[in-house]
Amino acid sequence: MLKYALVTGGSRGIGKAICLELADMGFNILVNYQSNLEEANKTLELIKSKGVDVELMKFDVSKQIEVDEVLGKWMESNKESKVLEVLVNNAGIRKDSLLMWMSNSDWHSVMDIAVDGFFNVTRLVVKDMLIKKYGRIISVVSLSGLKGLPGQTNYSASKAAVIGATKALAQEVGRRGITVNAVAPGFIKTDMTQDLNEKDFKALIPMSRFGEPQEVADVVGWLASKKSSYVSGQVISVNGGLYS
Ligand code: NAP
Repeated sequence: MLKYALVTGGSRGIGKAICLELADMGFNILVNYQSNLEEANKTLELIKSKGVDVELMKFDVSKQIEVDEVLGKWMESNKESKVLEVLVNNAGIRKDSLLMWMSNSDWHSVMDIAVDGFFNVTRLVVKDMLIKKYGRIISVVSLSGLKGLPGQTNYSASKAAVIGATKALAQEVGRRGITVNAVAPGFIKTDMTQDLNEKDFKALIPMSRFGEPQEVADVVGWLASKKSSYVSGQVISVNGGLYS
């Protein structure tokens, strides 16, 4: 059986770094993305150059029908030859504003992608992991979901929900050799934070800088490996020492 890792939102930013890290570890990669095919193709080529199998997988994690249609079909048609050992729930968006000004769509889009996305993808993948009695499920949450950040009630609520789901699921599936953990980045240099001025936040961050996507990917890689075999239900912060 060929071993695969699925990274949602794997085409850019933190997800891209995670895909490359998991490819370095020898996993074949499924790169999920939503719309930006150009960036997804660049990531595909980089992964290919590492000598592993890689496939792009376009679906919106918040849409159950799309997830079942694309991922469900892939799992069904490859069940004899390919196994998904690692799932990284990484897809996410930010739509910041003060709660009193927040639109319905800004609340729901952020919640749907993080929370429904976790549900839609994880439920599908965990069934197979339960049969195989092995799996690694890692979700990329946020400092915002641990501490709450003003202007991010939607984002904080969505990430806190995924942390709760992570802790609950870890207790459901631990007996079957599946670990379920979360990684909570602070400020990381990606498209998502390009509107933030690093200088304005330096004083707040003990390490006095934003993090690199690779610094998150290193922790995810460890959680995806056999070396983390007795770690489950945990949230590991990757935030340069920012109090959380
Ligand atoms: P990013 O650079 O904006 O990349 C987002 C990725 O998610 C892209 O691959 C995008 O695909 C994909 N995506 C967005 N909506 C999707 C959907 N509905 N279905 C499937 N894929 C979708 O973001 P990032 O900074 O790397 O963030 C990655 C994760 O880390 C997110 O969960 C974010 O909340 C979390 N995080 C980030 C930071 C930070 O400082 N950057 C801090 C804490 C937590 P397309 O290109 O096709 O749109």
